[in-house]
Amino acid sequence: MASQTHDLNIVDQMSFVAPRPLPAVATPRDSQTKIVATVGPACDSVEKLAELIMAGVDVFRLNMAHADHERQDINLAAIRTASAKTGRTVAVLVDLAGPKMRLGELPDGQLLCQTGDRIRFVRGETSSAPASTAQTISGMDIPTTASMPDLTTTYEPLIDELRTNDRIMLADGTVSLVVEQISTDWAECRVLQSGLIRSRQGVNLPGVKLSVAAMSDLDRENAIWAAKNDIDFVGLSFVRRAADVRELKALLMASTTNPASGGPHVIAKIEKPEALQDLTAIVASADGVMVARGDLGVEIDIAQVAVAQKRIIAECHRQRKPVIIATQMLDSMQHSRLPTRAEVADVSNAILDGADACMLSGETAVGEYPRETVELMNRIALAAETLLPPRREERGTNCLDENCPVQHRWTYSHPLNPVTKAVVYGAGRLAERLSAKLIIVSSSTGATALSLAKNRFRVPTVGVSDSAATLRRLCLYWGVTPLANAPLKDSRALVRFATDWGKQNGLLRAGDHIVIIAGTGMSATTHDMVVVQEVQ
Ligand code: PGA
Ligand code: MN
Repeated sequence: MASQTHDLNIVDQMSFVAPRPLPAVATPRDSQTKIVATVGPACDSVEKLAELIMAGVDVFRLNMAHADHERQDINLAAIRTASAKTGRTVAVLVDLAGPKMRLGELPDGQLLCQTGDRIRFVRGETSSAPASTAQTISGMDIPTTASMPDLTTTYEPLIDELRTNDRIMLADGTVSLVVEQISTDWAECRVLQSGLIRSRQGVNLPGVKLSVAAMSDLDRENAIWAAKNDIDFVGLSFVRRAADVRELKALLMASTTNPASGGPHVIAKIEKPEALQDLTAIVASADGVMVARGDLGVEIDIAQVAVAQKRIIAECHRQRKPVIIATQMLDSMQHSRLPTRAEVADVSNAILDGADACMLSGETAVGEYPRETVELMNRIALAAETLLPPRREERGTNCLDENCPVQHRWTYSHPLNPVTKAVVYGAGRLAERLSAKLIIVSSSTGATALSLAKNRFRVPTVGVSDSAATLRRLCLYWGVTPLANAPLKDSRALVRFATDWGKQNGLLRAGDHIVIIAGTGMSATTHDMVVVQEVQ
């Protein structure tokens, strides 16, 4: 008996590792949770991108901090070709660096900061660190802080805005300094926590309010590039207030070549304490949110990161905004075929917290196992989703099923059209009651599909729209698969189209039920019709 169980486990595991063949037609993705993958040298060919799409990527992130337009033009073309080749709709997120401060060039590329030593921040471009105080580490001579080196940053007015006792964090928070003395041309700091720093690394000033603009000239240039290239989402780093988001939205709207779509949607990256203080207004101003745990973990006490994550997710649900969890989700898979148990638990818990999407950064951009990482994220999501309780929008809480280990109580802020809201809710419940195999929602802007997604109904959902921009946006919405080229004018034709598609993809068989949310066109409300159809 025992050995039989063991054999079954092995068979189960083997079916996981078997590579999935590329299907001739688009099939719905496996997990309901969406996957965002950062593009970089490890995945920037059409073939590799297509592989990642088939493994479950919904949204590709182009990080403007790491490549110029020329490179990003090539990446964007490759993503669109890969999407066409695989027959799957994918979205693109362009990530703007925002007011991210970086170190200037260090003369030797790196510098060892030793506890108790002093460093000066000065104006200008190039830092100086006399090599005479070098220490040999792994056979390399690395200058140290023993001779009080001068450092520079990309933020011109830094010296003017620092105050004594301000903290400066370098090397992702591993090296910390405290400002001890200020003059007109320099700020002298003492090293509190030692470590190695490198040229152009990020500089974080937790709790220090800088006057820096929300966007640099380069950010504006990149935003215009995104708007002119029909990009779906633009992320803004280091958002501090709702006005930052509104400024970017206005710029995108003014520059878009597709004004009917409303321009690219803005994702506010929450990574500053100021943003947490003004969270409600920032979430309201944005189309979506990213919990940017990398910088957040430096800007606030790292011990508070998971608490902040839960708070941000809850606020996004209250306001029906998609939320992405980012950074170090499967970090160890950059160099390993398997993640740590803690990483698996982190991805699972993010999904149980209510994340709509999980993001991969270095794992897909520069890692050794991009495809394996996406496949694993998909499998973790599938496992976690079995525990997700459906939410009950009418009560503002999810179902309080005693057997369910995950309980959330969310309330909603801004109102959806009451007819749409009731129709979406009723259709979802109906679909669950009938154990329907598919919900089909027609959506012109994507808002109805998003509302459905936020209810976490346990029925796979297909979104149809006459707008290509809307279809791509659905890529970020939990549990909604975009389906292109559906006939929308004629509800009979739509049902036939969706049924044929479901059958071709092994989702539907004769006798199954499907539920369609659409509009009669007879009232001002777009969604006033629910159709239940038995598959013939
Ligand atoms: P970044 O943002 O990777 O652009 O810094 C994400 C984060 O800070 O977590
Ligand atoms: Mn960041």
